[in-house]
Amino acid sequence: MSFTTDLIHSIPVDETTGAISVPIYQTTTFVHSSPGVHQGYDYTRSGNPTRKVLEDLIARAESGTTGAAFASGMAAIDAVLKLLKAGDHVIAGTDIYGGTYRLLTTIFKNFGVTTTFVDLENEDEIAAAITPATRLVWVETPTNPSLKIVNLRAVAAITKAHGILLCVDNTFATPVAQRPIELGADLVVHSATKYIGGHSDVIAGLVVAATEELGKEILFVQNASGAVLSPIESWLLIRGLETLELRFKQHAHSAQHIAEFLQAQEWVKEVYYPGLANHPGHAVAAAQQSYFGGIVSFRLCEDYFAAAKQFATSTKLFKLAESLGGVKSLIAHPATMTHASIPKERHIDFGITDGLLRLSVGLEAAADLIADLQQAAQTLTTAGRPALHRKPVLQPN
Ligand SMILES: *Cc1c(COP(=O)(O)O)cnc(C)c1O
Repeated sequence: MSFTTDLIHSIPVDETTGAISVPIYQTTTFVHSSPGVHQGYDYTRSGNPTRKVLEDLIARAESGTTGAAFASGMAAIDAVLKLLKAGDHVIAGTDIYGGTYRLLTTIFKNFGVTTTFVDLENEDEIAAAITPATRLVWVETPTNPSLKIVNLRAVAAITKAHGILLCVDNTFATPVAQRPIELGADLVVHSATKYIGGHSDVIAGLVVAATEELGKEILFVQNASGAVLSPIESWLLIRGLETLELRFKQHAHSAQHIAEFLQAQEWVKEVYYPGLANHPGHAVAAAQQSYFGGIVSFRLCEDYFAAAKQFATSTKLFKLAESLGGVKSLIAHPATMTHASIPKERHIDFGITDGLLRLSVGLEAAADLIADLQQAAQTLTTAGRPALHRKPVLQPN
């Protein structure tokens, strides 16, 4: 059966009413028939039937045993890091999500967990960073915003050889395109806020564990720390998963067209998209992903802030906003928006310059999106460019 056929038909029909959509069990507590005797649920923080459908669904989609739903992507990441204890060591990519970097280098550092940041494309660097205290390798692929590709099979070979856990943040690829557990990962996390929710209307996070044992540990943290996803938001993610492949296919199809268009423009210095044959990670991406995704980054020839600002405020279909993965296309300026909290001197680790822009390609027709980019570029070469090179001209009142 295809991924989507299997996924859609793994969503149960309600046994008591026949409802084809999963009921939203908007309840905090469940009545006991006798002290300690209930029908599987006692309190919604510990378990909720709507959330359980979502958790089982994402576990199936990611080829894991156990799913757990959280109130945000960061809450999901926090739950995985809580499997660690003081003295443990983590290896993570230099260009991981800013929120994960912040969590590791502040809160978990204060709790005695140390982190070494390495270039995960270089397997020798990973091996060299391993110490007897290393418990976890944290990978994101494709990365944000430079769309670097990490070879998951190669990293899993290293972590397995050393008995270290491998966790993959699969937000950018989604289980439609990439299933890290099938490639050797122990844990997968998602900011379901992005493609899985898919409509820019829910903040949510998911964890999937490869083994029952790890799954029990994650569910323990979920209940103990309590950052659970609400029933109604769980329902929104179930609905998002139903159309995930359909949407992701279209996001990726348009992104490929847009990347190829950008590559041919004289006002573009460089394009970052794993679907381009000249992308350094193209071969690895083609081997481990079935779609190259919906995010395209590019650097303007005029690689400075004024040009990027002119461009990003001139697009009409691409709305200037953070986040990604929704039906509406978005444009972001990583240096001042998504990565503003990263110290400027570290921007080079992320491939960020002042003229870098990131597109989240939505579900509009690719031709319309390309026309929008083209008209924004025209403002750059007519209105934008002279203003950049000339001193401001004082206008008489
Ligand atoms: C957005 C994002 C997160 C954080 O998720 P929230 O839902 O915003 O808490 C983590 N990882 C990646 C790759 C993201 O894009």
